[in-house]
Amino acid sequence: MKSEGIILDTIDYKESSKIIHLYTPQGKISVKALGANKPKNGLLGFTTIGNQVSFIITDSKLPTLVEYNVESSIYKISEDFLRVKCFMVMLNIINHIPEDNNHGPIYSTFKKMLKDILIENPKKLLCIFLVKMLYAFGIAPNLKTCVSCGSSDIKFLDLDKGGAFCDNCSSLKNQDELYIMKEYYFGKKEIKDFTACNYDSLLKALRDYYFRYASISIKIQDLLN
Ligand SMILES: [Zn+2]
Repeated sequence: MKSEGIILDTIDYKESSKIIHLYTPQGKISVKALGANKPKNGLLGFTTIGNQVSFIITDSKLPTLVEYNVESSIYKISEDFLRVKCFMVMLNIINHIPEDNNHGPIYSTFKKMLKDILIENPKKLLCIFLVKMLYAFGIAPNLKTCVSCGSSDIKFLDLDKGGAFCDNCSSLKNQDELYIMKEYYFGKKEIKDFTACNYDSLLKALRDYYFRYASISIKIQDLLN
């Protein structure tokens, strides 16, 4: 079977082999890589966590790796602490993705992040990723109508209280965060420039939200200014 994936982690297996866990468009899979710990066969690069790879595996319960190729290497960001940290948070989220999901779009989003993290603002990307993944955990907030009165004239975001609020129902003045959430979530751009955006505050709100509604700890302390 031919497929592609992103390396999540590896564990040693027998004398010189490894079991590789990958995230693929079909979800998480485990693959046996015989002789992976022998430097000569070129598998060390393949088994690096975060690498995007293509491969052919046998058709069995615990498949064996037959052919493999590194499509994109994580080494490109290895010297940039902030990018690596942001990427590791994404990887942690992918590790927690519930099995019962449509994995194709999630995989595509993650793969795009891997590409974009080489050039884009990593904190912004992490915010986008965390917002987009909310639906994979079934915890997407209501961003279309006021959580309190149902009005569609929503103005502010209060993740702590489950979503968006109208002018009458919230005293928060964080319209930018609402716009950003909507842009990231629905993929529509409502305002042009988020240069004034405080990604730290959005990251904190998302971290608290994930912990509260999905019991996932997101380690972003090192990322905050
Ligand atoms: Zn309201």
